[in-house]
Amino acid sequence: MLDSPVESAPFHPRVRSYVILSHSDTVYQPTHPDAIIESVMAKTLIQCDFDDTVTYKDISFLLLDAFAGVEWREHLEKYQEGKLTVGEFNRLSFSMVKAGRQEMLDYIRDRVRLRPGFQEFAQFCREKGFRLVIVSNGLDFYIEEILKGLGLKDIEHHAAETQFNPGGFKVRYVGADGTVLDRDFKLSWVKKFLNEGYRVVYIGDGNSDFVPAQQCHFIFATASLLRHCQRDGIACTPFADFNDIIKEMELW
Ligand SMILES: [Mg+2]
Repeated sequence: MLDSPVESAPFHPRVRSYVILSHSDTVYQPTHPDAIIESVMAKTLIQCDFDDTVTYKDISFLLLDAFAGVEWREHLEKYQEGKLTVGEFNRLSFSMVKAGRQEMLDYIRDRVRLRPGFQEFAQFCREKGFRLVIVSNGLDFYIEEILKGLGLKDIEHHAAETQFNPGGFKVRYVGADGTVLDRDFKLSWVKKFLNEGYRVVYIGDGNSDFVPAQQCHFIFATASLLRHCQRDGIACTPFADFNDIIKEMELW
């Protein structure tokens, strides 16, 4: 969810060819030929956004439109203007929702449209030995339900934690290091995966993907993320659906 604004974070030199580069503390530099072999042998991890990437709609927005009244869009405007962090936006907006978990899941059941090829892509990753991880600014309970409905409940996923209480629910982000964050949630996971030595491939669509994607070895981009990359001259591969990504990665 939440395609704006572009989250702020220090930019690092961009890596466009994982074959000739290695990294140290997320800063990439050309390296010795021995390290080239090491880099080629590195395990591949795919960090994939969820809302508007796996799905065609932002499910959080769908829920807020249905259950929060119109006022939440004022918070959205402030978020888009950079006056609220994503964590603040979530807390304010979802505090307006009084519906329960099941009511919300029932609501989205027939409204979720998936970008074609995602199930095939998950299978493709299994066959190739690629670690597929969904990292989303969306909410865990609907992501889990949608994955379960696809027969993909075992896919690793990290998203906003939702805690349901009798009077409503709370939302918070817990970063890769276990600390509660208000921003840069996706970036925290990219950094963790890079530090673990993975060749990280990023798949995303939105403004909030721009900073984390730039840290990765390879970017598949659509919509706002694609426009940002093209504007700033960041190398990326456009995609319309996951079949496009499979076709590209089959060659790896
Ligand atoms: Mg998205």
